[in-house]
Amino acid sequence: MTQATETPSQALPPSAPVLVIGAGAMGRGIAQVAATAGHPVTLYDLDAAQLDAAKAAIERDLASGVAKGKIPAKAAEATQARLTYTQDFRETAPLAALVIEAIVENLEVKKTLFRDLEALVAPHTILASNTSSLSITAIAAPLTHPERVVGMHFFNPATHMKLVEVVSGLQTDPAVAETVQATARAWGKIAVRAKSTPGFIVNRVARPFYGEALRLLLEQTSDTATIDAILRDAGNFRMGPFELMDLIGHDVNAAVTRSVWEAYGYDPRFQPSLIQEELVRAGHLGRKSGRGFYDYR
Ligand code: NAD
Repeated sequence: MTQATETPSQALPPSAPVLVIGAGAMGRGIAQVAATAGHPVTLYDLDAAQLDAAKAAIERDLASGVAKGKIPAKAAEATQARLTYTQDFRETAPLAALVIEAIVENLEVKKTLFRDLEALVAPHTILASNTSSLSITAIAAPLTHPERVVGMHFFNPATHMKLVEVVSGLQTDPAVAETVQATARAWGKIAVRAKSTPGFIVNRVARPFYGEALRLLLEQTSDTATIDAILRDAGNFRMGPFELMDLIGHDVNAAVTRSVWEAYGYDPRFQPSLIQEELVRAGHLGRKSGRGFYDYR
């Protein structure tokens, strides 16, 4: 952990290579943010179709920024040139200063990935997880150097949402958390520190927003469009609960609810919704699958 310990509150320099693992909704946005900040970025996924979709989405987003006059064309080109897409990270992992994981919200899968990564990366490499709710302490536990593991929790879409929660597990080196916080700030984000409790800050507070909306639906108090419109237009929320769950992805949102529910000893406040579980079973995951509470096809 030499590099991070020697420069505790300094951001990683833009020349520092970043490896992002998982090219889904979050990974592609995080990769774009890091590349925009000047880092050479490798984006990895085991699914080639996801990599193609990520590349197309990043190109579309940059082109739209250029068309709106928000990004100079040359800067957009430079960002694209800093991005590499791969299905094999064995060559890039040893060069990375920072790895950010954004794969499926499943503790065992994440633990296996972090163990595999530790065998490949350099001693100073910081291993960050974009988990929404899982314990950073638990993800780090099987590693020889758990002190290098930290949460770096972006919000969806990562290119536009300002907040990043920097989450420390029980064994996280404070210097690592400071470096990640400084780096997120250098990337234009508002980076706040949190302890690794289930759901951290935002996802813990947001659980009732989704849960109570789903209960209203179950009790047939009102319908999705009406509840969304009331919260959005009269309540001044940016999005209503159902359209927000469609954006997040029901598989991700349900996994986060389940993980917070389990972590708090199956507290009924966090009980998963049968309505949402059924959507997941049907593959109606929201925007990313074309259909959730609403139809996007
Ligand atoms: P997603 O389903 O859009 O993408 C996940 C990607 O990971 C897919 O491309 C999949 O192919 C890939 N993947 C799965 N297992 C893998 C493995 N073992 N190795 C490599 N790639 C693998 O999911 P997402 O919405 O991007 O969420 C990813 C992570 O980010 C989760 O931990 C989630 O909780 C967190 N997160 C999600 C949101 C959100 O709003 N969707 C917001 C913040 C954080």
